[in-house]
Amino acid sequence: MRALQYVEIGKPPQVVEIDKPTPAPGEVLLKVTAAGACHSDEFIMSLPEDQYIYGLPLTLGHEGVGIVEELGEGATGVKVGDAVAVYGPWGCGACKKCQEGHEQYCPHAAELGIAPPGLGSPGSMAEYMIVKSPRHLVPIGDLDPVAAVALTDAGLTPYHAIKSVMPRLSGASWVVTIGAGGLGHMAIQLLKVMTGASVITLDVNEEKLAFAREMGADHTALSDENAPEEIRKITGGAMADVVLDFVGIQPTVETAGKCVHTESEIVIVGVGNGALPVGIFTLPYETVVRAPYWGYRQELAEVVDLARRGKITVETETFPLDEGFKAYERMHEGSLRGRAVVVP
Ligand code: NAD
Ligand code: ZN
Ligand code: ZN
Repeated sequence: MRALQYVEIGKPPQVVEIDKPTPAPGEVLLKVTAAGACHSDEFIMSLPEDQYIYGLPLTLGHEGVGIVEELGEGATGVKVGDAVAVYGPWGCGACKKCQEGHEQYCPHAAELGIAPPGLGSPGSMAEYMIVKSPRHLVPIGDLDPVAAVALTDAGLTPYHAIKSVMPRLSGASWVVTIGAGGLGHMAIQLLKVMTGASVITLDVNEEKLAFAREMGADHTALSDENAPEEIRKITGGAMADVVLDFVGIQPTVETAGKCVHTESEIVIVGVGNGALPVGIFTLPYETVVRAPYWGYRQELAEVVDLARRGKITVETETFPLDEGFKAYERMHEGSLRGRAVVVP
């Protein structure tokens, strides 16, 4: 079968021919129908050799949907022909975090050699993929695979981040979102569906800001040193109750710190390695700063449900598997609209 693999540090991923995998006991083999390209893939492919821990060659893709093709011995809960989405942050399945469905925080995954698909285990950018357990699968019913696939991360991650700040958001609240890309455009839609808050989105050019308004942002502003002053004007001096940063570089986390009022919350989702020190003189009093990872298993089912009801829609650009590397080129140049989806 064909797979898009990261083969050599610093080189673009390439399509290679590898053996079709066979499911071991308890595993599920999926025929992949769509695979999403995330900025985190670009991040790991930018790491120098001494920081890269995901193994080579690595079949990319931690967003995947497919059709159940074959069940390993003893695997139950799904049947051949089911259309499913893959919950990617795999844990041990047995510890307290995993039992709660918070598998992304399983403390045993690393020591047991368990890694998400595309981030250590072979990922979804291939004709077939192995899913370690049926518990990682969420039925998508008749949702279009291309439209559904990014729900597994670009949908789930902002959904989880927003759920954590729900108590702070009323109909009179202000939320600032930074970055209107794959995750950010879903965050805007989710905020409008889940809360009554007004959304102000920051991004780097007018085209992105127009896209954010199309997705439902009430206001937009350029993400530069003037952004906090713009937020002050838009909010009539109130400033934001919550900032969700889907970029996470030092300039954006610092912007986030300047856009909030006292007793507010900043959620850093982007892996730009920015850091915001919490101290009496660094941020408005009692500002909470949080950095979540991915989301809970049951939250993926909720996000899929929202999409099935037509309340959220992933904007996509598709690429055939053979040209999957182009998805990352476009991501790198910042010209994607919504999510890039690779179709095997
Ligand atoms: P993306 O490339 O689709 O979107 C990034 C967006 O940010 C683009 O619209 C871009 O124009 C905008 N942007 C870039 N620089 C900016 C700046 N200085 N100010 C404002 N906007 C700016 O990326 P994505 O796939 O949506 O991922 C977003 C981030 O979230 C990445 O860092 C990714 O690695 C990270 N991520 C984190 C988690 C997690 O669990 N914490 C999960 C998935 C992705
Ligand atoms: Zn991701
Ligand atoms: Zn566990």
